[in-house]
Amino acid sequence: MQIKELTNYLEHIAPLSFQESYDNSGLLLGEKSDEINQALISLDITEEVLDEAIASKCDIIIAHHPFIFKGVKKIGNSHWIDRCIRKAIKHNIAIYAIHTNLDNVHTGVNKKIADKIGLINTKILAPKKEMLSKLTVFVPNEHSDKVLKEMYNAGAGDIGNYDHCSFQVEGTGTFRGNEESNPAIGKPGQEEHVAETRCEVLVANHKIHSVLLAMTHAHPYEEVAHYITPLSNINQEVGSGMIGDLPKPVESRVFLNDLKDKMNLNVIRHTKITSDKITKVAVCGGSGSFLLNASIAKGADIYITADFKYHDFFEANDQIIIADIGHYESEVFTKELLLDTLTKNFTKFAFRLSQVDTNPIKYL
Ligand SMILES: [Zn+2]
Repeated sequence: MQIKELTNYLEHIAPLSFQESYDNSGLLLGEKSDEINQALISLDITEEVLDEAIASKCDIIIAHHPFIFKGVKKIGNSHWIDRCIRKAIKHNIAIYAIHTNLDNVHTGVNKKIADKIGLINTKILAPKKEMLSKLTVFVPNEHSDKVLKEMYNAGAGDIGNYDHCSFQVEGTGTFRGNEESNPAIGKPGQEEHVAETRCEVLVANHKIHSVLLAMTHAHPYEEVAHYITPLSNINQEVGSGMIGDLPKPVESRVFLNDLKDKMNLNVIRHTKITSDKITKVAVCGGSGSFLLNASIAKGADIYITADFKYHDFFEANDQIIIADIGHYESEVFTKELLLDTLTKNFTKFAFRLSQVDTNPIKYL
């Protein structure tokens, strides 16, 4: 298939607009119209991963971490990134990164960690604001169901576990077309009064364009009266980290030992055990010290993440247990997450899990 079939799907589950401003997710190497036959799924891009792709005849690598992150000003041979770029181009291997956009969806990296630990009632720990708009459109009464249906199909009106959410109120719309007009109701130059429904729906900002297209396509009028209102509401399905509950409280040391097994850990660096039992657990794959205060504020007994610095551990402040399980270890199961979702959606395309341990940190 063409690369764009794969990337369209990946960007449907984790839209690129959800990535953090510093990130570089997306198609890093290759052209959307290029043909691909087999994909390799990896956490990182390294020379060994590229060798694995070459040996297994994979022509695209889907990685969590974007290996091209800062500006590349020249491509020589002395730095590993240069060598990876050269090797990928030489062997015609495309590279796609699905990074913080996959961190920030409620079915992404952190949900996978939460599932591994066995959390229930999971929610985004720090949901993002300003990612939703209200779309208001005025439709002749007899057309309102059809217009709304098309807008729902394009992604409008979803709130949590509910879809087809709208608010409708009937009133009177007026208009008068000039001599260039071709009104669906009435004649040019005549003022019309029409029984209309004012329909309001929530739309995620990244879906606005397709919802507007569906709306104008389904609407009978030449000029569709509508307006878009940006909202400061949180979007509970987009944001960083995740918080959830254990089905029943577990003794803290037992929980930490179980965590080692479940996440396949060599070591956990943790702060003082401040509670006898663990019930509420916050998680964030990768570098998560920025969510410590959110974890405390939401009442987590433990915060499982990685890349905590020495002084940041003090900020547990006897209010929470910080458990640093390692960046690679916290995210390595992202490969399984991608494999599961991709094989379900592309039943006739071959995906392969990278067998390379790309963790740059070794334990003695
Ligand atoms: Zn990471």
